[in-house]
Amino acid sequence: MIDECALRALPQTDAVLRANECAALLRVHGAGLTCAAVKTVLHTLRAQILDKKQPDTSIAAVCEGAALLLRAPVSPRRVINASGIALHTGLGRAPLALEAREAVQNACGYTDIEYDLAKGRRGERGKETNALLRDITGCEAAFCVNNNAAALLLALSALAKGRPVAVSRGELVEIGGGFRVSEIMALCGGKIEEVGTTNRTHLRDYEAALKNGAGLILKVHTSNFYQSGFTASVELDALCALGKRYHVPVIADIGSGAVLPPREYPFDEPGVPQAVAAGADVLVFSGDKLLGGPQAGIICGKSAFVEQMRVHPLARAVRIDKLSLAALTATLRLYVSAAAAKERVPVLQMVCHDADALREKALRLQAAVLALCPDASCALVPTVRPVGGGSVPNAALPGFALAINARAPAALAAALREAPVPVIALVRDHALLLDTACMTDAEIDEAAKALAFVLFADVANEGAAL
Ligand SMILES: *Cc1c(COP(=O)(O)O)cnc(C)c1O
Repeated sequence: MIDECALRALPQTDAVLRANECAALLRVHGAGLTCAAVKTVLHTLRAQILDKKQPDTSIAAVCEGAALLLRAPVSPRRVINASGIALHTGLGRAPLALEAREAVQNACGYTDIEYDLAKGRRGERGKETNALLRDITGCEAAFCVNNNAAALLLALSALAKGRPVAVSRGELVEIGGGFRVSEIMALCGGKIEEVGTTNRTHLRDYEAALKNGAGLILKVHTSNFYQSGFTASVELDALCALGKRYHVPVIADIGSGAVLPPREYPFDEPGVPQAVAAGADVLVFSGDKLLGGPQAGIICGKSAFVEQMRVHPLARAVRIDKLSLAALTATLRLYVSAAAAKERVPVLQMVCHDADALREKALRLQAAVLALCPDASCALVPTVRPVGGGSVPNAALPGFALAINARAPAALAAALREAPVPVIALVRDHALLLDTACMTDAEIDEAAKALAFVLFADVANEGAAL
């Protein structure tokens, strides 16, 4: 039976909006949003009553419900990365440097993104970004699109000129999210001339493809897997020399955007300056992998080819937006020196931190947890963490995590994901692991509080079950 009494007791929207409890909401959020939230709450309560439930229908409860709706975090919302994976694709890859965050704030309103302030007329989009990229990489020309997949699509569309593209069979990769080189090729109406075999490709294989009419050579970094054993591939400089002899451009998709000298990274990853020096006509990479900036596709290379890409109709469809461009420019400015970049770019700190620094961070979390929750059973354990995000497939960075011994670590991990700022931890060998490598000091304190809260609730539940 429907409880008509309860239905009649539901307050009217107007009565809620006139109530004292609603005044603060109206002041902060305005009439339109507050009214909509109140209506949503009343609608939910009505449905609950029809479902034979007995919700609290007081005006105070309705206002509280509306406040929760109005203050709900916008998705994508902030989370704390306790996985130790610096370029976690699910968590949005690279976190931005403070300078980049400020630049995004500044670019939210009107900007001079395509306006020349000195001349008072239309200007070049990303002028400073492109100049910084030329300085940092040593290339002749540069410009940016919205991600690396788009950069590759544009390169193939603009430069293949209807001729087949020579790609090694060992490099016909799928990069997560269904992005396959062969499908990108199909998308721009081109044809792939497969070269060599899965494990071994030689220069003579490429040469045969060129003799067969291939009009472009593409080298793709196998960024998310690693081949070992009886393998062979052709180095970029040899490919560039071959391309030159046949007057065919060479494109390198190097994926992760390591722009500092190789000695600055604790692993081997194809670097941007090396690809420029090897003579690649065009090279493309991501902005939000090892570069540590926002999602972006960065195109560097020889002026004539970069210009063909810039004026191609597809370039407009994959244009980078002002917020990303601001963040990217601010990130690139940090690359004035290797020391500055390693000090200011979060991803570089995370992958370059030494064992002592990482141990200290994990100890800080342990101390904060024990201060709040002296009975917690926790200890530091060594970890091995991947870089993540489709980069450096064979690197395993050493680190430390705080291991929490618990009856049901998966349930604790789930409870941490429900914290006001969700904490993304790992579950391994019957323990909950919080790797602090990708956390700021402030996040370590927040995570400690969230952990103390769920451990406390866990103990309380255990007590109730006895
Ligand atoms: C990551 C990656 C891509 C895709 O880059 P997005 O910026 O995510 O579009 C393409 N190619 C390679 C080799 C990659 O590593």
